[in-house]
Amino acid sequence: MLTAPPPSPSTSSPTSSSSPAPRAPSTRPLHVVVLGGGVVGLASALRILQLNTPGQPRAVNVTVLAAEWGAATTTAGAAGLWGPYKLSETPDELVSRWSGDTYGHLLGLCHSGAAVAAGVQMCSVNSFYSEPQPLPSWGHIPTTMHVIDPRMVQAVTRTLEQPPITPPPPAPPAGPMPPGGTGGAAAAAAAAPLATGLTVAEALGAGPGADPEPLPIAWGYHWNSIICGRLRALPGRLTSLEQLGAALEDSTPAGAAALGSGSAGAAEEGTPARGVDAGADLDLDLDLVVNCVGLGARELLRDEDCYPIRGQIMRVRAPWVTQACFFDPFYIIPNRHTVVLGGTGQVGSASLEPSPSDRRAILEGCCRLLPSLRDAQILSDWVGLRPGRTRLRLELERPGARLAGTGAGTGAVVGRGAGGGGGGVGGRGEAGPGRVVRVVHNYGHGGAGLTLAWGCAGDVVELMRGEGLL
Ligand SMILES: Cc1cc2nc3c(=O)[nH]c(=O)nc-3n(C[C@H](O)[C@H](O)[C@H](O)COP(=O)(O)OP(=O)(O)OC[C@H]3O[C@@H](n4cnc5c(N)ncnc54)[C@H](O)[C@@H]3O)c2cc1C
Repeated sequence: MLTAPPPSPSTSSPTSSSSPAPRAPSTRPLHVVVLGGGVVGLASALRILQLNTPGQPRAVNVTVLAAEWGAATTTAGAAGLWGPYKLSETPDELVSRWSGDTYGHLLGLCHSGAAVAAGVQMCSVNSFYSEPQPLPSWGHIPTTMHVIDPRMVQAVTRTLEQPPITPPPPAPPAGPMPPGGTGGAAAAAAAAPLATGLTVAEALGAGPGADPEPLPIAWGYHWNSIICGRLRALPGRLTSLEQLGAALEDSTPAGAAALGSGSAGAAEEGTPARGVDAGADLDLDLDLVVNCVGLGARELLRDEDCYPIRGQIMRVRAPWVTQACFFDPFYIIPNRHTVVLGGTGQVGSASLEPSPSDRRAILEGCCRLLPSLRDAQILSDWVGLRPGRTRLRLELERPGARLAGTGAGTGAVVGRGAGGGGGGVGGRGEAGPGRVVRVVHNYGHGGAGLTLAWGCAGDVVELMRGEGLL
């Protein structure tokens, strides 16, 4: 049995990593494999490829390997709102740095010609509480963040005096219905895009009537956030990556040991261990693995600091909703064409089945926040597992991975001969001579992968620079 220390709980910044070994500059293109096709992997790959500028002495080639892409990832189902959320013990200063960098990037994108293609837009948010709170530690990042106007609290608690409603002018006497016609409203409805499904009120079995009881809201803060349309952004990012020269390859989680040194989980010698079958074609000139497998680290590295945080949401059609509202655990987040209603945050639950009781709780809670949602049309249910971790792991592991080869190294195998899979990233190769490659781990982004990905990717690049790889 191989023994090894447990995965490092520390979250290091690039400046705090141990000092790099000096090395002579190389002009051979650097080859980086990014493992993971969610927002964290794609942002890492993109920022690495952006190093290929005319002044850069060393070209960088990137291969992205992933078991799942696009709609199959957790990223694809996310509500897409910038906002640090469910990050456990990740230090505030790192959250601020990573999320601040991402906010700046998205803000620029929102105000560029690429905004529609990238699926980004500004969104104001009302975060409500039952009592006053300190403003969040990241409160300096959004362009606006202030204690909410009391009238907003009065509005959501239905204590704001309603203006008198002016009665409409009397309708002209009804004439005969035109042949084949059903009236203007129905004609307009027929022209609207076909919407299937029940309204929220129908789903709840609630008839028209008084507004539901308001939530116990007494205070809040209002801030400017940014929505990242994940389904639009993910394929867009893949296209950008391919345009920048990245190779995108499928990999199958297979049985072949662990990525990284023992600190990334020890596999027993001679047992079929876990890992990633990267295919037999991996370039053995590989210099660096960037590990962005999200919750996959539980399996790949046997990292017991990782855990799922189950999130169930619903998407409804409610085009009148233009602001986001939060009152934990409920939230309403408008996307470009749908509105996300949430949610749950069940720590440790890995069930991907939508639960009827969660659905009911979400609909009831969101209607208590915004009663007009009773008229919203239900479009879909979704459950995703947020990649929770005691702390987000972003650090360089040296020696990290070892190219399939000597049995002496303590790293994962990259390439042919890794474990039983005919090739792979992960494991401890016991065959012929090999070469050590470093691994940058970048996973455990909890409920904030879209919020942090760009900033974290910047640190991946800084770690590469610190290692003398660039
Ligand atoms: C309901 C819900 C709402 C959310 N809303 C928001 C939000 O509004 N804002 C926000 O910032 N965040 C939100 N999140 C969180 C966000 O979705 C995650 O933090 C983010 O998707 C994590 O990205 P990732 O790239 O690390 O992981 P993933 O998207 O899960 O991608 C992991 C990738 O690694 C690959 N992989 C894993 N294991 C292996 C392996 N062994 N071999 C090969 N490939 C492997 C997978 O196939 C996949 O391609 C939400 C999450 C949920 C569940």
